[in-house]
Amino acid sequence: MARDQTRIEQEERPDDAEDQGPSPQYVVDIGGAEASGRSLVLLVGTRRCYSCIQADDEQTSAVSKVRPNIKRIATHCAQTSDYLLQDTPLKEAIFRVLLGGGNRPMTAEDISQVLSEKWAMTAYPRDVSSRVIQRLLDSSGAYCITAVP
Ligand SMILES: [Zn+2]
Repeated sequence: MARDQTRIEQEERPDDAEDQGPSPQYVVDIGGAEASGRSLVLLVGTRRCYSCIQADDEQTSAVSKVRPNIKRIATHCAQTSDYLLQDTPLKEAIFRVLLGGGNRPMTAEDISQVLSEKWAMTAYPRDVSSRVIQRLLDSSGAYCITAVP
């Protein structure tokens, strides 16, 4: 039987005639990091929780571990209480939010929302507005964070 169902095309979405285009989304650039060396292995691997790091053996610090480690962080480590402590530097926090979301592309607004919820009860209110996050996202090259084209 032929599948003649017409697929709804992405292009059908009406063009946003607003002043500003859609907010850029950001990810941790795994592919780019693989090409440029193994720094992301450490960057990601060390963001796991204590028990996950303890479970490592020496051979597991390979580039191929980046994706599984991100998955592990998203499903486990990000749920631990000290994953996003309220005194975490913001760039570090942004990186952890991206990893905690499984490296799903996120906008500055998305990240801002996660952090304001996470830190809503903190005794030391911090400016985690999307404007601040956006500025940091654009200068987070050290964390291999890049805008999705
Ligand atoms: Zn863990």
